Amino acid sequence: MLGHVPAPLDLSLVIPVMDEEGNVEELHRRLSSVLDSMPVTAEIVFVDDGSRDATVARLEEVFRADPRVRVVALRRNFGKTAALVAGFAEARGDVVVTMDGDLQDDPAELPRMLAALDADLDLVSGWKRLRHDPWTKRFPSKFFNATVRRFTGIPLHDFNCGFKAYRREVLLDLKLYGELHRFIPVLAYWKGYRVGELAVQHHPRRSGQSKFGAGRLFKGLLDFMKVLFLTRYMQRPLQLFGLLGLVLSGLGVVGLLYLGLLKALGQSVFQAHGPLLFLSGILLISGLQLFVLGLLGEMLRHYGYEPSAEYSVRRRLSRD
Ligand code: UDP
Ligand code: MG
Repeated sequence: MLGHVPAPLDLSLVIPVMDEEGNVEELHRRLSSVLDSMPVTAEIVFVDDGSRDATVARLEEVFRADPRVRVVALRRNFGKTAALVAGFAEARGDVVVTMDGDLQDDPAELPRMLAALDADLDLVSGWKRLRHDPWTKRFPSKFFNATVRRFTGIPLHDFNCGFKAYRREVLLDLKLYGELHRFIPVLAYWKGYRVGELAVQHHPRRSGQSKFGAGRLFKGLLDFMKVLFLTRYMQRPLQLFGLLGLVLSGLGVVGLLYLGLLKALGQSVFQAHGPLLFLSGILLISGLQLFVLGLLGEMLRHYGYEPSAEYSVRRRLSRD
């Protein structure tokens, strides 16, 4: 596994950008001056996520001027999650820090992020305590964060902050696709990584536009159901679908037995108890279907079995 190969650098910054032509140079300037003052070997990996403006041209200039910079330009816009995944695949640092490319995250916070990571954490998530975004974003985001906190029990205020610091091994252990970047702390926590948070400075966006509107709340909540399923029940689908199925079809059977009894006593079931008959039949059939769905889930688990995906190792003591 990649995790056992020593990383050649102390730190990789991974910065996904899409249409940030007015920001990338200034961000690079500020980051460079922070990195110059730190005793670490570092690289800055910019991932261009299909920009249609002059972002790539700006990044080329930055690349030519600074040997610490690397640029990965994707063929089209794949979305922030995919851009992060591309950056992680490129990153060679022992620690990987992600930040947004729009200057809303402050490079000056970098030393504090690393210090927080050093204090026995595997993942430090930024918390935009004083957030400089319109209320149409702040309000849905508060609701989203409260919901995720409530259901997962993870005490973070800001799950979807772009500013995060990771130990390398965390990244190798996450399967990110779709828009799962919003749930990285949840996925990492579920694998047993130590996840914490740090309040960070946040600035208003000065150049370019936000790529995410208020509509992300709904997508986010659907994705949250997916995450709950992936983390809680994917290991044991029959326990979810099977139980639900048994309960529903059990109720159906009870209904049908009751109707059978009435019939035996000479009552007209069709005319007097039509709705109950209908309901019992539906319960029985849909319950059986859910049960079979659980069995299918178990079958997928069986054939998709990967031993290394069943656990996550923190430490090994070994002589080889
Ligand atoms: N971004 C990206 N691909 C996308 C959308 C956004 O790489 O499809 C980048 C964007 O350029 C920025 C970061 O992700 O660097 C966060 O996006 P944005 O600032 O628009 O989000 P907000 O701060 O408004 O939540
Ligand atoms: Mg932003």
